[in-house]
Amino acid sequence: MEIDTERRFINVWAKDETLFFLPKEKFIGKTIAEVFPHMESLFSAPITAAIRTGEPQEFEYKHIDPTIDKWFKAKVTMVSKTNQPAEQQRLALTIQDITSRIKQEQALKQTKALLERTNQILESSQKLSNTGGWEFDVLTGEMFWTNQTKLIFEIGENDTINYQDILTLCDPGYDYIFDQHIRRSLEKKEPHDFIFRIRDKKWLRSIGFPVVENNCVVKLRGATMDITEQMKTTQALLEAKNKAEEAAQAKTDFLSVMSHEIRTPLNGIIGISNLLKMNRFQDHQAYVDNLIFSADHLLQLINDILDLTKIDSDHVELVQNEVNLFELLQRITNQFNSLAESKNIDLITFVDPGIPEKIIADAVRINQILNNLISNALKYTDAGKVTVALQALSCDAHKVTIRFTIKDTGIGIPEEYHEVIFDSFKQVQQPASRKHTGTGLGLAITKKLIELHNSHISMESTMGKGTTFRFDIAFDLPQSNMAIDQPSISYSVDTYANKLGDLRVLLVEDNPINAMVAQKQLAYFGIVPDCAYDGLEALSLLKNNAYHIAFIDLHMPGMDGQALSEFVHKHYPDTHIVISTADIMGDVRVRLSEIHAYDILNKPVVLEKLLVFLLKVAEQRSIISMESALDEQP
Ligand code: ADP
Repeated sequence: MEIDTERRFINVWAKDETLFFLPKEKFIGKTIAEVFPHMESLFSAPITAAIRTGEPQEFEYKHIDPTIDKWFKAKVTMVSKTNQPAEQQRLALTIQDITSRIKQEQALKQTKALLERTNQILESSQKLSNTGGWEFDVLTGEMFWTNQTKLIFEIGENDTINYQDILTLCDPGYDYIFDQHIRRSLEKKEPHDFIFRIRDKKWLRSIGFPVVENNCVVKLRGATMDITEQMKTTQALLEAKNKAEEAAQAKTDFLSVMSHEIRTPLNGIIGISNLLKMNRFQDHQAYVDNLIFSADHLLQLINDILDLTKIDSDHVELVQNEVNLFELLQRITNQFNSLAESKNIDLITFVDPGIPEKIIADAVRINQILNNLISNALKYTDAGKVTVALQALSCDAHKVTIRFTIKDTGIGIPEEYHEVIFDSFKQVQQPASRKHTGTGLGLAITKKLIELHNSHISMESTMGKGTTFRFDIAFDLPQSNMAIDQPSISYSVDTYANKLGDLRVLLVEDNPINAMVAQKQLAYFGIVPDCAYDGLEALSLLKNNAYHIAFIDLHMPGMDGQALSEFVHKHYPDTHIVISTADIMGDVRVRLSEIHAYDILNKPVVLEKLLVFLLKVAEQRSIISMESALDEQP
């Protein structure tokens, strides 16, 4: 179109005149504003600029009818010379249909936006799943990694990497695994999926597939996942599973050991009891000795198990008192002298003279520890010697640290057992130890007791040469004016045979066998007790009789021992209460021991212990004077 500076159409040309909005006669000679009032604003500014600057002006616009999806490009160029008068000046306005280009651009823009969105989602999902993508160009060797892959391998975002670099990042051994899988993928045109480790800590899983063109692998494409966390969980699960299996195995082993251990003395007890029932044998005493031995063994076993359970459930507290360690050790070794002699083994003790005579310790537990270790040393030694040495590592006015060493020249413990020997129920399976019986609990208890003393036990052992156990314990020393626990006088049971007949005793026990045993035990001291088989019977006896002492079983049907004791304590304060129980764990027992109103007698009851309580009451009631009884001792 040719227009003048008034924006009037002078002339118009077109390839296809149907494209005009109007027939050309209708707008030639008219201004843009007259013909297309709504387009005036669009054209006005570029035309003014073209006139003012002399520079061509371009702009694009959409079809004036918004329902028609067409785009145009307009160009305004001054075509007359600048020195011509204004009315003669002319401009060329060209309009080109650019719809197809605009459409292409729009499509491209949409594709770009879509791609960007896809990339963003891909990147987020890679981050979330800790998975990175990669592509390896087999022909050029180029390695393309997504940012996430670089993050996983801990290399910089702008760093490039080649195949060899990856192999060097792999931990020793995994470089080989990596290389093998990739090579197989390339050679066999197969996908791969394998796990490898890098940088000494990260577990990665690589999944990939070959891109084949003309029957040749040109690329490998895939993903690498960081599976360190899963591997940790899997490993923890595996360990837990193994531990559970081991525990189950240990339980089975334990049950088989226990059933053997319990049946053996039980067999003795039942067998000997039956023999005694037949009453046809001269050697009565030997049978009874064996009976007691078997029963004691059984009791020891059960005590061990309970002890271990108690220590495991933190129910053991050290009871610290002033202790003479020299005497304690002497007493322990005295017990073992005859065994050592019978095996022709020297049992040697050495106590550092630097150790103070009195220390503050739990005599029962120290005794238990030394007993276990010395008894093992003698048990597993057939010739040579067992040495028990106590050495002062340090000592001042308040504390002494003592090293205990128990050394034998016995069969030794195989290397593979050194770690596990302190575990519960672990026993060395070797021909030499098969002849020794035991439960495999001694060392487990010993270890825990030593730990209770804030220490630990160590062991050295050489097969065939012997074993040494060692531990150090720090003990407090008694301060000058501390109360001293007098060792209790040990009474000879014989002294009091038939001597305590004046004691009036009530026996409350629901188990007929236990009642029978208790009656016989009391009868030994000349006592004929009144017997009640439950709480109610006891109450009616109490109503009609006065008793010096009442032995009350803790566990009874109906009114239990505790309730009965409370009743007796309240209504018959002159009756001394002794609660007997076989329950060494129960909370009731703990509560009772805190009350101090009652004495507690452990079952199975031995005469010596029973006598302690009888004498206590007999003395209080002046029924017997201890000195007079002791005077009569031969
Ligand atoms: P056990 O009741 O079987 O003796 P322990 O826990 O005391 O149980 O000991 C566990 C195992 O350790 C024993 O069965 C034995 O094989 C081994 N053992 C313990 N002490 C010694 C030792 N001094 N010499 C050789 N072996 C020993």
